[in-house]
Amino acid sequence: MARDVVKNAKKESVDVKQKDRRDNKPTFNLDSWKPKTDIGRKVKLGEIKNIDEILDKGLKMLEPEIVEFFLPNMESILIMVGQSKGKFGGGKRSIWRQTQKKTCEGNRTKFTSAAIVGDHNGYIGLGVGSAKETVPAREKAIRQAKLNLIKIKRGCGSWECSCAGPHSIPFKVKGGCGSVRIEIMPAPKGSNLTIEKECKRMLELAGIHDVYSKTKGQTGTKLNMIKACFAALKQLSQMRVLPEHIEKLGIVEGRNE
Ligand SMILES: [Zn+2]
Repeated sequence: MARDVVKNAKKESVDVKQKDRRDNKPTFNLDSWKPKTDIGRKVKLGEIKNIDEILDKGLKMLEPEIVEFFLPNMESILIMVGQSKGKFGGGKRSIWRQTQKKTCEGNRTKFTSAAIVGDHNGYIGLGVGSAKETVPAREKAIRQAKLNLIKIKRGCGSWECSCAGPHSIPFKVKGGCGSVRIEIMPAPKGSNLTIEKECKRMLELAGIHDVYSKTKGQTGTKLNMIKACFAALKQLSQMRVLPEHIEKLGIVEGRNE
């Protein structure tokens, strides 16, 4: 039975191509949504008009529909965290990390997947989910990513540019997970995202266009890599800035109108 699961996973991982990693099905429908939490009810009644009200207060969202309601043009991407099996050092990268536990009945397989959601305009979320089969793992990851949404600051902190536009980040940030350490730095206009491939997708979704970066440690462990990058971006939202710097660096928090 375990073998069948592995076979199915192989088939699916071959089917999933680069463009299929995005799924943008417009499934959200306000009328059919029945909120279960207080925040959800307030959102449906229109008492909470903006997602910033929830994020600024640090309230915990438990329903992904809240994020779907406020950010309708949100996109989700699955990160290549795993590798398909194969001889000679393994096969292609895949969106599922497959691990096995040895038990007396046989091998118990588990799939892990990581998803990022963002609206290309200041909001980004990361989620990880694992299950016995591939599809529930992906669903869990996307749900978690929506619930882990953060609002980032953008600006221009580069001394080579100083244009005060929100194309880069206002200051240097650091993040880590496992052995991976990452440092993301402001860059002048036109220098693009000079960063590792999967982190690049994350910054694109967040709406940042130019950065420099530096990494250390086992960056091939993509799950840790992407978590470190998210930790660095979280610093952007947590740092307090002086009012004079907001004007000087052109800091925009969240959505850029
Ligand atoms: Zn600039």
